[in-house]
Amino acid sequence: MSERVLILPAEIPDFPSQVERILEEFPLPWEGRLVLVKPNILGPFPPQKGVTTHPALVRTVVRQLARRGAKVVVGDNPGVGGYGANQKAAEVSGIASASEGFFVNIAQQAVEERVKSRYADKVRFSRIVLEADYIISLPRFKTHSLTQLTGGMKNTYGYIAGGDKSRLHTRARGTRQFSELVVDIFAFRPPDLTIVDGLTAMEGEGPSSSELRPLGRLIASYSAVAADSAIARIMGRREADIFQIRYAGARGLYGGVQIEGDASPLPDFNMPFGGLRRLVAPLVNTVAFRYTHPRPRIDIEKCVRCMRCVEACPLQAIDDTPRIDRDRCISCYCCQEMCIYDAVVISGLVYNFIHRKG
Ligand code: SF4
Ligand code: SF4
Repeated sequence: MSERVLILPAEIPDFPSQVERILEEFPLPWEGRLVLVKPNILGPFPPQKGVTTHPALVRTVVRQLARRGAKVVVGDNPGVGGYGANQKAAEVSGIASASEGFFVNIAQQAVEERVKSRYADKVRFSRIVLEADYIISLPRFKTHSLTQLTGGMKNTYGYIAGGDKSRLHTRARGTRQFSELVVDIFAFRPPDLTIVDGLTAMEGEGPSSSELRPLGRLIASYSAVAADSAIARIMGRREADIFQIRYAGARGLYGGVQIEGDASPLPDFNMPFGGLRRLVAPLVNTVAFRYTHPRPRIDIEKCVRCMRCVEACPLQAIDDTPRIDRDRCISCYCCQEMCIYDAVVISGLVYNFIHRKG
């Protein structure tokens, strides 16, 4: 059965009326329900970079849900460089203040769950993903150098807490493999409603490229796969070109799309560099994980041996010294969250660059 997608023209002042219309056209019984609003907070990027969901959209959705009596939580798990720094990424992106008190660091409570995937038996998800009655996903309209586009399905990869994201990435390194993994995570808990922030369109080597062009559209659907199909069309691509969409169809998660509104392709849309980038992607991902993956270590000078981190570690990766066993550690950063003496230090090339002082 094909899924409906509604595309509305929208600039920031239009958001209240357009989001109102989307919530009427895609009704759900919000009153009294726990709703996770899941923006894309890739890392500590300011709103004008167009890397993260625009805070004006987050604010509008939060206000309208609160007015309808929903219990709202806003949260995401940032990617490389943002690990262990959810609060900072949410503040820099403007999403923490746009959440009007509903932002929660959802990395702090994680649970391990079984998934149907050839890349993992179990994955650590933020607990709220399991507890929420409804999930509204607010992805950005962006390219992705590995999966071609970052949209509704890819936004659910942020359900994963801490370093499991990177760890799984190293098992699913190529376009096909990583696309499958993204769909497997999406299939664990598809969002109930997806509203794509298409204020601008990101071109080039996403998901954090600096190439932006005006688009001025919101794309809404119950189905994140259908929303992704509409994104592909606007990028000038066919569904068949996007492996995630093909694989979602093969897994029985998608049966076609019916688009209402302007899905006309953007002329000369600049997709990510294909051939060579995708050929070297497996090597790049391995090297990136080994040399740039942020890892925790204990600063013995600052440590008072309270053992909070030892108790907090879900993998028993910290001994009584205390010292972290790198082979066991999954970089969930629970130890850092628990240490009130700043004795757990996160470091890694990309992380150090993004979080450098001054
Ligand atoms: S929580 Fe911090 S101070 Fe306490 S043992 Fe761990 S590293 Fe040391
Ligand atoms: S040592 Fe344990 S608590 Fe700290 S990041 Fe690694 S797995 Fe998580």
